[in-house]
Amino acid sequence: MVNKLKEITAIAEKRGFFFPTAEIYGGKAGLYTYGHLGKLMKNKFEWLWKCYFLEENFWEIEGNSILPEAVFKASGHLKNFNDPLTECKNCHFRFRADEIIEDVLDKNAEGLSVKDMDSLIKKHKLKCPKCGSQQLTKVEWFNMMFPISIGAVGGKDVAYLSPETAQNPFLSFKREFEALRKKLPFGLAMIGKVFRNEISPRQLFFRLREFTQAELQIFFDPSEIDTHTEWKKIAKYKLLLQTVKDRKGDKVKAVSCEEVNKKLKLPKLYVFYMQQIQKFYLEELGIPKDKFRFHELSSEEKAFYTKLHWDVQLNLESLGGFKEITGLHYRTDYDLEAHQKHSKKELSVYLERKKKRVLPHVIELSFGVDRNIFALLDIFFKQEKERNLFSFPSAIAPIEVGVFPLVSKDGLPEMTKEIYGELRKNHISCFYDEDGSIGRRYRRIDEIGVPFAVTVDYQTMKDKSVTIRERDSMKQKRVKISELAKHLK
Ligand code: ATP
Repeated sequence: MVNKLKEITAIAEKRGFFFPTAEIYGGKAGLYTYGHLGKLMKNKFEWLWKCYFLEENFWEIEGNSILPEAVFKASGHLKNFNDPLTECKNCHFRFRADEIIEDVLDKNAEGLSVKDMDSLIKKHKLKCPKCGSQQLTKVEWFNMMFPISIGAVGGKDVAYLSPETAQNPFLSFKREFEALRKKLPFGLAMIGKVFRNEISPRQLFFRLREFTQAELQIFFDPSEIDTHTEWKKIAKYKLLLQTVKDRKGDKVKAVSCEEVNKKLKLPKLYVFYMQQIQKFYLEELGIPKDKFRFHELSSEEKAFYTKLHWDVQLNLESLGGFKEITGLHYRTDYDLEAHQKHSKKELSVYLERKKKRVLPHVIELSFGVDRNIFALLDIFFKQEKERNLFSFPSAIAPIEVGVFPLVSKDGLPEMTKEIYGELRKNHISCFYDEDGSIGRRYRRIDEIGVPFAVTVDYQTMKDKSVTIRERDSMKQKRVKISELAKHLK
């Protein structure tokens, strides 16, 4: 496992997926840069996400990463967006109290009070993970937002770097409701950078201090939570679930949407988005079924703003098991209500057709883009006898086609570059390489997950055909250049 993490990280850094930021100065935990391949892959993931989730009357907006303090007073983040912190009195290392409890005692510490954590630390004589001292300070809550001050007013105009994109759609809700012809439901998505001052980011690329979220806030009339126009079509679809009860024995059950609605009492609208999300992972991203599950959070574990909270977890071998990648949150009218109260601006809306006024409720899809990228690297990584490869589906592969002349002479490079230009005109992302043996060039593109290689050889000169090699099977076939783009697409 540790080896797989090392292996993937080494390839990611060497080939340009991601690497530590400011490496030449020693880097900073939780800060990573996307290299050229990582950025291409991230763009593709975000594009796929938008194409898939932005259905009728769902739109993307772009708000700010810097938001005034008033926003976070109202949203509850100033008071509640905390992690439990303790400090070693000997070496002054500061770390998360819940993590040490979880690591050493193998006990879920989410939802414990600071008092409970203090008692557990004392009772089990837990030690500083760095120097081994038992002299630890009392556990305190540490707010994870980065404060900043706006303008040259000497810290008086306080703002924060946003720890989630969600507040922007809430702040824009009233304007967009009016602009979108005053109808519910409607969705506001935002893909953007968010910032969390994680106490001790571990697991390399998995827990970051600056990362990207793709979030979708769906505003709806609360009286319609147990309806969806497409319900009949999805009722028999089986969701892969781990309820709180199923944690014992680590069970996952396949349960139809109908049963989830009737037996687990999850409302149809919420179940509909569970189904959408599962299909996105299994069908669009090609995640194997046995690596996917919805994981129910208990009332102590849920975020302070949610009434229903299930996470998507994927089984990541390099991190030793199922890890949270995405969340599906029923935020009720928590945020609109809070902003209405604090801003003293009316945020309820009048629905002309129904002749009634409502304060909409919200279901939120919250994807961490970076964790999804990492998960794709983990899940599609394969080591074979003679090669490493990422067997990414084309939809998320950073580059789709490698284009090679068999040798770099006799007019083959010129002909290959023409083909390369044609493919680019057809919006196929490709990569040209003429250095080294053809076998080595194939290995190199396998290692970055390119699904196809097109090779121009001497026969191309005679009959205007090229070979296409498919990455996973390594099988080759000949295709006419005139049909190449169509064939690849
Ligand atoms: P965790 O329990 O791992 O700290 P969270 O429950 O606080 O995560 P949410 O607030 O629900 O996470 O955020 C939604 C998504 O944002 C997560 O599912 C995850 O993909 C991503 N995310 C959250 N924190 C981080 C982080 N520090 N680094 C990278 N991605 C993150």
